[in-house]
Amino acid sequence: AKQLGKAQFQFYTEALSERLLRQFQLELGLSSALKQNELHLVYQPQFNLTHNKIEGYETLLRWVKDGNVISPADFIPVAEQTGLIIEIGRWILVKSMIEMRPLLQAQQKLGVNISLRQFQQPDFVAQIEDVLRQTGFPAAQLELEITETAVALDFEETCIKLQKLRQLGVFIAIDDFGTGYSSLSRLRSLAVSRLKIDKAFIDRLADNEVDRNLVATIIALGKNLNLSVIAEGVESEEQVMWLRSLACDAIQGFYFSRPLRLEALEDVKQTISF
Ligand code: C2E
Ligand code: CA
Ligand code: CA
Ligand code: CA
Repeated sequence: AKQLGKAQFQFYTEALSERLLRQFQLELGLSSALKQNELHLVYQPQFNLTHNKIEGYETLLRWVKDGNVISPADFIPVAEQTGLIIEIGRWILVKSMIEMRPLLQAQQKLGVNISLRQFQQPDFVAQIEDVLRQTGFPAAQLELEITETAVALDFEETCIKLQKLRQLGVFIAIDDFGTGYSSLSRLRSLAVSRLKIDKAFIDRLADNEVDRNLVATIIALGKNLNLSVIAEGVESEEQVMWLRSLACDAIQGFYFSRPLRLEALEDVKQTISF
């Protein structure tokens, strides 16, 4: 038993140091990624099911290092821990606004993910104001995606910040909705205009009645609070049919389009009838 214990301990420490090493490498690489031009943006169209038109695009960050694509799911947490997200986050805002401005039609919005640490900065609203001024991007075409967790963490502060952003003309979407604990009354008092239903619920939409009911409930909740609802991670025609029948406002996912580089966006059809 003692032998086994030792072996296991060794196993754990190895696994741990491997993880630390990997984290350290990410950290090191990330700090130079911006300067080395290793970061770029892709955009995923969001398709409105009522008007059968593209209503906006979500900005997603990509890191290509030595020919390998590193997933944002892996490096965003590192960027958060090290504080690099502040600089990178600002770069994402400016870059996406400059790149997308000529391409966006007047009614279309540009979605940008805001990480928790970025949002929690005391001068976050001033930063957004600054970026809008710097780029000349219309505030009413910017939609910031904030996760449900960020809202739950510091409700009072979030409430004030969202109110100020709304006064600037900027729109707010709650990302990964359904995974956190927003209460109805709290949602009602937030200056939010849209809910993004987490992919996990959409994945099981077609074959799990519990998840289907949940999606139906979120959509009904959205209608009730006068919020638009978008489903993310939509991959199949069957899912689109369900979402249509539940009167979901919009979809985003591989079924309509993968996230695309700027050059490829022009070739995407603006209107499609499914
Ligand atoms: P998210 O904000 O929930 O973004 C949606 C993720 O789902 C994206 O992954 C997107 O590529 C992926 N996706 C979209 N449609 C489908 C689909 O039909 N099927 C599948 N399997 N996946 C789909 P991605 O780009 O790897 O990003 C992962 C997460 O990393 C994002 O989740 C977001 O939390 C974070 N992230 C990505 N870009 C940024 C950024 O610019 N800033 C910040 N702060 N976070 C970002
Ligand atoms: Ca998002
Ligand atoms: Ca999401
Ligand atoms: Ca997500």
